[in-house]
Amino acid sequence: MKFNKVLKDIKTYEAGKPIELVVREFGIAAQDVVKLASNENPIGTSPAVQKAIIANADRAHLYPDDSMFELKDALRKKFSVTDENIIIGAGSDQVLEFISRALLDDESSVLMSAVTFAMYEIYAKQMGAKIIRTASYAHKYDEFMEAYKMHKPKIVYICTPNNPTGDATSKTEVLKIIEAIGKESLIVVDGAYMEYAAAKDEKYAISAKDLLAYENVIYLGTFSKAYGLGGMRVGYGIAQTALINELYKMRPPFNISTLSLAAAIEACNDETFVEESITLHQEQIKRYEAFAKENGFAYIESYTNFITYLFDETMDAAKISDALLKRGVIIRNLTSYGLNAIRITIGTQAQNDVFFTHFSEVIV
Ligand SMILES: *Cc1c(COP(=O)(O)O)cnc(C)c1O
Repeated sequence: MKFNKVLKDIKTYEAGKPIELVVREFGIAAQDVVKLASNENPIGTSPAVQKAIIANADRAHLYPDDSMFELKDALRKKFSVTDENIIIGAGSDQVLEFISRALLDDESSVLMSAVTFAMYEIYAKQMGAKIIRTASYAHKYDEFMEAYKMHKPKIVYICTPNNPTGDATSKTEVLKIIEAIGKESLIVVDGAYMEYAAAKDEKYAISAKDLLAYENVIYLGTFSKAYGLGGMRVGYGIAQTALINELYKMRPPFNISTLSLAAAIEACNDETFVEESITLHQEQIKRYEAFAKENGFAYIESYTNFITYLFDETMDAAKISDALLKRGVIIRNLTSYGLNAIRITIGTQAQNDVFFTHFSEVIV
């Protein structure tokens, strides 16, 4: 059997390790495992959303409303756009996939920062496209422009706030990059963590509406992070109608499940839950900043629901991650991104207590 030649160059995406794996491999009871690896909402799923999922359980035999009218209506109001500006995906990941398939082939290139969301590369490579990265993980205008002029990429990714580093790019800087890039390139502004950045500092707040003036820009958002619906797989893209219409050609029918739709609609109406999640997060992340300062290592100022600790050569991110895993604490080792660093999702107070207890012992 001969597979598509593009597959040779693709590494399978490594997701955060599941709780079940730690239970199986290390014999730790599920309730003692603390998972701070996938940037899920530590509070869980909003009770109102859980109710909506249960209330719709008897409709699981029905295909969902393929027009997704109600969810689009909720998003339309939230972002002050029209429903023709919106495409829904099984996670914003699926929208990323639509974008790659709609634009790329083996003569294209895509431009992204040195360290950013791993799926941009994987979807691009599936299409045989070439990956161009800037030198810095921060999205710097000069670096982006230099690479843009040299390679004329079909897609330019701006992940703000950026994952897995946690830094953000100001709205001014993002607009400056957008203005300078020609209409033949699509600029994807991935705002998976935008709710956290907007709550922290409005300089970094970018709303889909701000970008709708540009025909070659799409804003991506997700219900997986602040909205607490990682397991339901719902995300969205917002752009001018002509672009949305092209992406629609890539969409399989019924790409969101009946229960996921019900959950996302309810989540849109439950902004209090998001506000509470962000308040808890803002309290708890201070402990992580203080811990780094007290213990003399660096961290990246975070605009997300996680923090990235940067280690010098006296500490080994891979070893530390393994030691934590054996103790039932799952975090993300960033060695594969070329950083001697770990990324920790900010948990609840109790989860963070467990993290600090084990982490303090592991780093001595
Ligand atoms: C989590 C994440 C997404 C998408 O997540 P979905 O669960 O597929 O919606 C997209 N971009 C970034 C940077 C992320 O961290």
